[in-house]
Amino acid sequence: QNPILEVKDLSVHFYSKTREVKALDNIFISLEKGKVLGIAGESGSGKSTLAKAIFRILPYNARILKGQIIYKGTNLINVNENDLQKKIRWKSIAYVPQVSMNSLDPVYRVKSQMLETIFAHEDVSKAEALERIENVIKDVGLPSEILDKFPHELSGGQKQRVMIAMSMLLNPEMLIADEPTTALDVVIQAQIIAMIKKIQKEKNLSMIFITHDLSLLAQISDIMAIMYAGKIVEVGKVEDIYYSPLHPYTQLLIKSIPSIKNRKKKLISIPGEVPDLSDPPQGCRFNPRCPLAQEICRKESPELTRVNGSHYVACFMVGGQ
Ligand code: ATP
Ligand code: MG
Repeated sequence: QNPILEVKDLSVHFYSKTREVKALDNIFISLEKGKVLGIAGESGSGKSTLAKAIFRILPYNARILKGQIIYKGTNLINVNENDLQKKIRWKSIAYVPQVSMNSLDPVYRVKSQMLETIFAHEDVSKAEALERIENVIKDVGLPSEILDKFPHELSGGQKQRVMIAMSMLLNPEMLIADEPTTALDVVIQAQIIAMIKKIQKEKNLSMIFITHDLSLLAQISDIMAIMYAGKIVEVGKVEDIYYSPLHPYTQLLIKSIPSIKNRKKKLISIPGEVPDLSDPPQGCRFNPRCPLAQEICRKESPELTRVNGSHYVACFMVGGQ
């Protein structure tokens, strides 16, 4: 079976007067139909940039230097804005942006915003639109009274549920959710994750789920990808990443997860600084912080290489490069 989405060798830089930020470097990812690809990595590692690149909403100062974004056989990089708007965005691929809780328009009631979203893309009757709205609101576990409210009348969790309902209005095949629960408290977070997982299963959605929270990611993903400083350093099934991490960065990340057993112990943090992406380290971008780094790691950049099955790692010291 062909993947629904494949990103191949994608590099994206941001430009300002004084700096060129090398935000994504030779990114490869692959998503199978009906599966969840979870992407984790520290702040600034390029997760949102990757999401925006796929949805083709990078800001003006970004440039795609190379690569392909193949969605069902079409390279989205070659699709013009008009076709993206008409055929791809929301109808095929939906996107819940980071901090989206605040992206509801404060002057419209939930129902009006949802109607507007449908009518902007599809020519359907108001009755049909309203029926669809009732359905998605039910799917995300909200009562229909919510439809007559203004955003400021909703709690954080309710707003986030509304955002997810909005993303489902045009029946997309794929969803990109960028940190959809990060601003919420843990109990609400767990409920929303369960709701997203249920919708994903029921609709057989293909999903990219982004968070910096590894234990949360393990709950929802089939495949996990770990990003570091604009690179994918390791990809694998949840159990590969969780129980047999290979990349030294992934190993440190997994060790730093507070567990019930070691919560009294001091949290392990990874020594060193996240690199400045306008002047990233030569060779492997993790080498200045890596306990295993050798000469070659300071000179050459390791490629993502298959270890076994769907487990890939980019490291000269492990995985037999
Ligand atoms: P977080 O976990 O904080 O959301 P992230 O992994 O989503 O982080 P990105 O937002 O993708 O990270 O940022 C990747 C890099 O690109 C960072 O160094 C960031 O400062 C830089 N960057 C992002 N947007 C822009 C922009 N519009 N102009 C210049 N640099 C940018
Ligand atoms: Mg982000």
